[in-house]
Amino acid sequence: HMPTAELQALDAAHHMHPFTDNAELAKTGVRIITGANGVTLTDSEGHKYLDAMSGLWCVNIGYGRKELADAAARQMLELPYYNTFFQTTHVPAIALSAKLAELAPRDLNHVFYAGSGSEANDTNIRLVRHYWAIKGQPEKNIIISRKNAYHGSTLGGGSLGGMSGMQTQGVPVIPGIHHIDQPDWWSEGGDMTPEAFGLERAKQLETAIHNLGADRVAAFIAEPVQGAGGVIEPPSTYWPEIQRICDEHGILLIADEVICGFGRTGHWFGSDYYGIRPHIMTIAKGLSSGYAPIGGSIVCDEIADTIANAGDFNHGYTYSGHPVACAVALENLRILQEEKIIENVHDTIAPYLAEKWESLADHPLIGEAKIVGMMGSIALTPHKESRAKFAADAGTVGVACRTRCFANGLVMRHVGDRMIIAPPLVITKAEIDTLIDRATKSLDQTYDLIKA
Ligand code: PLP
Repeated sequence: HMPTAELQALDAAHHMHPFTDNAELAKTGVRIITGANGVTLTDSEGHKYLDAMSGLWCVNIGYGRKELADAAARQMLELPYYNTFFQTTHVPAIALSAKLAELAPRDLNHVFYAGSGSEANDTNIRLVRHYWAIKGQPEKNIIISRKNAYHGSTLGGGSLGGMSGMQTQGVPVIPGIHHIDQPDWWSEGGDMTPEAFGLERAKQLETAIHNLGADRVAAFIAEPVQGAGGVIEPPSTYWPEIQRICDEHGILLIADEVICGFGRTGHWFGSDYYGIRPHIMTIAKGLSSGYAPIGGSIVCDEIADTIANAGDFNHGYTYSGHPVACAVALENLRILQEEKIIENVHDTIAPYLAEKWESLADHPLIGEAKIVGMMGSIALTPHKESRAKFAADAGTVGVACRTRCFANGLVMRHVGDRMIIAPPLVITKAEIDTLIDRATKSLDQTYDLIKA
């Protein structure tokens, strides 16, 4: 390919990047990834990086699995495209739906496909509102979500999400969405114990339902573990209380499993990990390990049957159930199952990673080090005991740390002054050791920089 500088100039001239710090980009030039294998990325200059983020939390089975490329090629030759509208379908969509119904908890037996997690959450908004309208309650249409949540970038997904940046650009957001606080004990728990704080934050849902009226609230949506918000592990009391409130007040529960699904927590779904009983799960990312764009909503019998019995659901995407994406997802699920990757994560890899990751809490720059399965976060702090934040612009220290990680051959993401990881599920113990060594070196260098 062309020299890196020429590619960078073309990119700067013609490519608008999502979620990119353009000032930073202008200084450093864009990093061009040219290949990957296992957990390792290669850039156009030949540098190697251990990808501790699985791309965007999606390459669960690791890079370079030829079986997925073969499945895509086979399907492209046999039937590259057909739609699933107008009383039509095809074998990959049938097979994938049956497989997902088998894997999903309880009676989540019906899949509505989308091209991404954002589109799937848009589907969810229409699904739950339509469901209550069929039930004779069209006013039951408010959806409660959480501050600092990420549910995608479409108008629906961005409106559900609670990150301030998503709520201030491209406004107005869509109406009928109400946000409550997140269960982030480290940042917001003050003097409370994590357990008391988890209960208090869950009870905000009940207060919101009281204030809005249970006859107005259609659903509550949340990620089992808030991912893009900084891998916020909820206190142990949080999910049982949320479940009780949804059950008691007749509120549908949507678990956004886009990150937590397909093994990230050491279980098939984050809902399995926390014992959550959702009516709908949003899926994407790990469904195909990112090898093909596909997302969807897995819907319980009651909602799916009610909607089917009421006639047409006037909703769908050209790529709903795309045959190539379905074939790739099926092959990905076959590999996850046959190679017992999730069992291995649960029994061996996640405990090993947890031990190493949690030991980072001893570092002078780190307040808490948290991990759920294969998603971890560390909070960078100038003062551990008071859980203080860095006074300057939030994220400055995080950016500095991320820059050092890149220089040391490690991709870690920063969210404000938190550093987060979500490595491929196939990472080995030796690669975890490398990850921790490079993270420690980067933290040491960041600490030296702050002290200087
Ligand atoms: N929901 C969650 C929890 C996510 O983390 C994401 C993406 O990061 C989305 C939804 C949106 O998915 P997509 O980027 O495939 O539209």
